[in-house]
Amino acid sequence: MKAVFLDRDGVINSLVYYPEQGVLDSPFTPEQFRLLPGVAQAIRKYHKMGYKVILASNQPGIAKGILSEEAFEAIRRKMKRELAKEGAFLDGEYYCPHHPEAKVKRLKANCGCRKPEPGLLLQAAKDMGIELSRSWMIGDGLTDVKAGKRAGTRTILMGRKKCELCQLMDEEDVRPDAIAPDLLAAAQHILKQEAK
Ligand SMILES: [Zn+2]
Repeated sequence: MKAVFLDRDGVINSLVYYPEQGVLDSPFTPEQFRLLPGVAQAIRKYHKMGYKVILASNQPGIAKGILSEEAFEAIRRKMKRELAKEGAFLDGEYYCPHHPEAKVKRLKANCGCRKPEPGLLLQAAKDMGIELSRSWMIGDGLTDVKAGKRAGTRTILMGRKKCELCQLMDEEDVRPDAIAPDLLAAAQHILKQEAK
């Protein structure tokens, strides 16, 4: 079994701009959760290509005390509902709830599942019988690329060719197998690789 692992924020749903902090971050309410265009279609495509589609996401909001369990669950439900409306679904969802500086004691940890650590992918592989060398990790951050590489998958960075992360990629010497602007383009890349 092979899988496409997807980061959530910035890949499945748009990031939310918080003007007070001047930052882009995860949605903290279901209302703020918006699927990006083409995501459901791309997930259907991955399934058609024989991949399991598995979410692998750092979600430290509860640990940091800025997100309630209820809101987290409500966001998950909305995500699944919105995908289902367009005939798409996820085969698994894996979240790291930890943060090294967490306010919530039980979630304060230097864990092995917070990306760039590969724990989420390794756990999913074990649970679902995934061959990581035939799998892909797709995310919009270098932490996603690192987690994929550490787990032994190929990696696709979501972004533009002239990207803000390119300098960082050079500095940290972390290179994805490809850069794609969205999940549909990533699917095209995977198809091309399989045809080789
Ligand atoms: Zn963790």
